[in-house]
Amino acid sequence: MNLLPLAALRAAFSGRLCTDAGDMSAFLTDWRGKWTGRAIAVAQPDTAHDVAAVLRWCQQHRVPVVPQGGNTGLSGGATPDVSGAALVLSLTRLNRVRRIDAVNNTIEAEAGVTLQQLQDAARDAGRLFPLSLAAQGSCTIGGNLATNAGGVQVLRYGNARELCLGLEVVTPQGELWNGLRGLRKDNTGYALRDLYIGSEGTLGVITAAVLKLHPLPAAQVAAFVAVPSPEAALQLLELAQLRLGAGLTAFELMSDICLGLVEQHVAAARRPLSEPSPWYVLLELSDAQDDAHATAAIEGLLEAALARELATDAAISASLAQFKSLWALREDISEAQGAQGKTIKHDIALPLSRIPAFIAATDAAIARTFPEVRMVVFGHLGDGNLHYNVSPAAGPSGPGHEAAFVALEAGVNRLVHDAVAAQGGSISAEHGLGVLRRDESARYKPEVELRLMRAIKAALDPHGLMNPGKVLAIDAGEST
Ligand SMILES: Cc1cc2nc3c(=O)[nH]c(=O)nc-3n(C[C@H](O)[C@H](O)[C@H](O)COP(=O)(O)OP(=O)(O)OC[C@H]3O[C@@H](n4cnc5c(N)ncnc54)[C@H](O)[C@@H]3O)c2cc1C
Repeated sequence: MNLLPLAALRAAFSGRLCTDAGDMSAFLTDWRGKWTGRAIAVAQPDTAHDVAAVLRWCQQHRVPVVPQGGNTGLSGGATPDVSGAALVLSLTRLNRVRRIDAVNNTIEAEAGVTLQQLQDAARDAGRLFPLSLAAQGSCTIGGNLATNAGGVQVLRYGNARELCLGLEVVTPQGELWNGLRGLRKDNTGYALRDLYIGSEGTLGVITAAVLKLHPLPAAQVAAFVAVPSPEAALQLLELAQLRLGAGLTAFELMSDICLGLVEQHVAAARRPLSEPSPWYVLLELSDAQDDAHATAAIEGLLEAALARELATDAAISASLAQFKSLWALREDISEAQGAQGKTIKHDIALPLSRIPAFIAATDAAIARTFPEVRMVVFGHLGDGNLHYNVSPAAGPSGPGHEAAFVALEAGVNRLVHDAVAAQGGSISAEHGLGVLRRDESARYKPEVELRLMRAIKAALDPHGLMNPGKVLAIDAGEST
């Protein structure tokens, strides 16, 4: 029987409090359906002051809190554990864009505003908010900042951290910190903002943010380019950066296997080039002048690339519809992989210079050790971020084969992540640690780094109530 005074919690804030199992179920399973937990209740406060009241109640009764935005995270960070002891704190009702300062090029929005709403509000004011990812219709600004989300325009505009100037945060003790500064320069002490960004709800709750805006480009053109190898793709990136400068806003890599999966599983998908190539690059130019200027710049780049044999063929978008359909080939890869069956996913970052050698050596090691799999490799090459995924090789399928494939996961992860660590890379580029990569990350981090992280956690959240067990394992000495 639950002896917690939920009536007092109900009275403490305005918004919704769900305790009904049916109403709560959507909040208790993650986007991929990989984790399902239990909770005493789901609180959906209306304002930052309401969030503070909820956290004060949780502190008083030592109730763990799992913050949740759009629940699109891919590392299990927004799902409570199975104990049923935690409260899920959903931020989706904090959904107001508070103000836009067009001169300062900033927008202030509450944590539950979806990324799509934020982009639309910026566009309505004649500005660009450049963070862009396939989950943007559902994911929230609070979740984007809590995971330091990346996406397809990091190359030019940076990830969520680089787009954030100020935060409003509720501490685990229920104090409201107003750090909503729209300043590009502010050297007045420890960077608390940066501590909360990427902390995955383990240090406090983000309730609002001031974010940077950019000028809207006058034209955007995409090119889908056949390249012979990852080495050639990297040389094309260097050439594109030289010729297009800051106009180069995305540079994505995908293998022919990825394109084949999209063609097979997405009805509208069409190959843009007549001959297959082992690898493709999708690049995007944003131009301050017009379409003709952008197209001429891309044509010049591609002519130079063809002459140097960095590319073998290319298609350039000539309309918004073509621009969107070229991008869909990249954005639909995850969905096509899901439709194909089970996948072992890796979201890794490497120094750009080491990517070709990493792919060659790790592909070969995987093929030697796990002959029953094949690689499905794509990602944000311009950022050194690969989705280095592993699927079953073509052949017989069925529940027995699927179970045998899933049983390979730990061994495949170890091989891939050891190779990433050996190259000075990261085992989580943009999806965070959550519970998925928590323990593996601890294997690769220096002890002193883990100790500093634990010290920060203990200082800000001494009772370990904020999203316990995410990012860092629960300390044996920690008690709620
Ligand atoms: C189809 C698809 C494509 C994706 N593509 C990308 C991509 O390209 N790049 C990328 O980086 N990610 C991508 N993601 C992952 C996901 O969309 C991002 O991690 C996103 O930032 C999560 O936002 P959310 O609001 O859904 O957060 P949630 O999933 O609800 O939460 C994620 C984490 O943040 C914490 N949290 C949420 N809100 C707050 C808050 N207000 N205060 C404190 N902590 C909070 C949660 O506790 C949890 O630990 C993709 C996901 C999907 C499903």
